[in-house]
Formats: sequence, structure tokens, C-alpha cells
Amino acid sequence: MKVPVTEKNDFTRLIFECPECRAKTQFKIVWYPSQAVLTQIHGHITRYVLRCTACGEHIFLHTRRVEVPFPTESNIETQFPPTGHFPHPSIPAEIATDLREAAICISIGAWNAATVMCRRSLQSCAKEKGANPKDNLFDQLKELKDQNLIPDLVYQMADTIRKKGNVGAHPGKDPIVNVSMSEKEAKAVFSLVESVYKYVYQMPSEVNALSSP
Ligand SMILES: [Zn+2]
Repeated sequence: MKVPVTEKNDFTRLIFECPECRAKTQFKIVWYPSQAVLTQIHGHITRYVLRCTACGEHIFLHTRRVEVPFPTESNIETQFPPTGHFPHPSIPAEIATDLREAAICISIGAWNAATVMCRRSLQSCAKEKGANPKDNLFDQLKELKDQNLIPDLVYQMADTIRKKGNVGAHPGKDPIVNVSMSEKEAKAVFSLVESVYKYVYQMPSEVNALSSP
């Protein structure tokens, strides 16, 4: 379906981080369902296929109802593929699989589940880096820091992910107060775990690639 260019689908505002090439770039709407059909069902357009102008790949968006008739970052409800769906190839497979699952959780608004998967991925990373598999994650991260396998800042980042993962996994002791991860927290934890892997896997692999003849 060819989308007519009108004031209502102002392409200049479609700036997102591309899950494929990771560029924060311009997207173009290439498809949305028939307005007539969707108006009958929802009263508004909720689904879009967009194309990244940097790499040419497509993404699918399902959005919440909003006043603006085009998708914005804040009204995306689900997205495929999700941002972070393609972990750096230097990240070992088991760890990358958990990270990918965390990204899928984020893309569908499963904030608690996302932080639990970030924590699980981090525990695999600690084991892969030589921490005692019988210890809990708190001790494993301390082992890595004490052996100078991670600097203090990365340790603090990892420990924050551990704590948030615990909140995501447990409903809390107070029967009245429901402790849950917010969207902001879950996304921040995901970004943190990506930063840890950037330091632990991606940067060393890039240095190796440059150093090798
Ligand atoms: Zn792209």
C-alpha cells in the first residue's frame, strides 16, 4: 500500500533508534492497515511498518492510542524486532540469548521480566569470567572485582543490575505495597547490562581486531 504524504504522517518526526543498525535515525512509514478498517475496530491507527533510512531494514510497531496520528517513541506498545535484539557478536551465546530475551520483554512492556532476564544474563557472564558457580551473584561479582577482572565502576553497574533483578523477581515483603519495575527502571537496567558487556566483551574484541595483523 502506498502511503500518501500528508500533514498527518509527517515523516520528519519519525526518529527512533534502529534495532538493526542501532543508529538513531529517520524512519519512513511504508505500510499501515486500512484506516477504514481500523477506525471501525479501534477508532485510530495502531500498527505500522517502518523502514530505517540508514540500513533499509523494516520494523513493526503496535502503538497506544494517542492524539498524534503517527508513531512516536513514547506511544510504542510493542516493537519487532526490539531494540537490543541483536547483541554484539563478541558476547558468548548463552549470555546473548538471555539478553535477547530481556530485549523481547522490554518490547512488550514486561518490565519485571526484563530485569530478571538482565540479572540472569549477568550471572552467566560472572560464571563465564571465572566466578565460583556455587556462589550467589553478590559474591560472584565481588570475586570478579577482587581479582581485578572488572573495575570498580563496572562492579557498581553490575551490582545495581543484581539488586534491580531481585526487585523484579520478588513481589516484596509488604502485602500492601506492590513493588514492581517501572518502564524507566527496566530500560535503564537493560542499558546498564549492555554497557557492562561493552566493557567486558565488545571493547576487548574491537581492540584485538585492530591489533591483529
Ligand atoms: Zn537501521
